[in-house]
Amino acid sequence: MQQGTLLEVNSSIAQALNFSSNQKPSLEELSKLASTCTRCGLSQGRTNAVFGDGNPAAGIVLIGEGPGQNEDETGLPFVGKAGQLLTKILASVGIDRKNDIYICNTVKCRPPQNRAPEPEEMAACRPYLDGQMTAIQPKLILLAGASAVKAVLQSKVGITKIRGQWLPSPYGDALAMPIFHPSYLLRYASKEPGTPKWLMWQDMKAIKAKMDELGLTISGTPHPSL
Ligand code: URA
Repeated sequence: MQQGTLLEVNSSIAQALNFSSNQKPSLEELSKLASTCTRCGLSQGRTNAVFGDGNPAAGIVLIGEGPGQNEDETGLPFVGKAGQLLTKILASVGIDRKNDIYICNTVKCRPPQNRAPEPEEMAACRPYLDGQMTAIQPKLILLAGASAVKAVLQSKVGITKIRGQWLPSPYGDALAMPIFHPSYLLRYASKEPGTPKWLMWQDMKAIKAKMDELGLTISGTPHPSL
């Protein structure tokens, strides 16, 4: 992460979350704060805040949209139907979701009726995401779906146009790739060339190639079926 960016991110997180500006909060501290956070209205419907899961030392992070019902109940990201598909998608190139990647969301509390988070809610939760990225310092960031692209890249370009490209991220020299959200893929059965599932498979192969190039660990055995 570039020095200037790190300092800027650090001091805005510190300000927003009431840390002293030379402190870099740990994931544990941030997670504890998120569990009692009232920075936006989503906190009112929360059973559990869903902070993140997986391996923070893996060098690659996936950012989704926000918790659904299963995630709210368990406190873990991506454990419902979309999550099960995500686990399979990652495993298709040998990425084990517990050991080889860290998974989190743009907002840590469940939006009602599984609606997309509002810009103000993503902004209120942003210090937690920034704090996570500052603590983890990933080399690669996967942005699953339009909300993650909006929250991180501040871009409204449609996911079909922007997916599959490595783009600069606001987190130092980490590269970000927008990918389809797994819940979008649940709507499609076909894996024929040009379909969303086929495009996702191309993106996963590019991600695996980049992980290999950067020497990031892949501990699973590839299961090439979505
Ligand atoms: N969808 C998301 O974007 N995140 C989750 O944690 C679950 C479903």
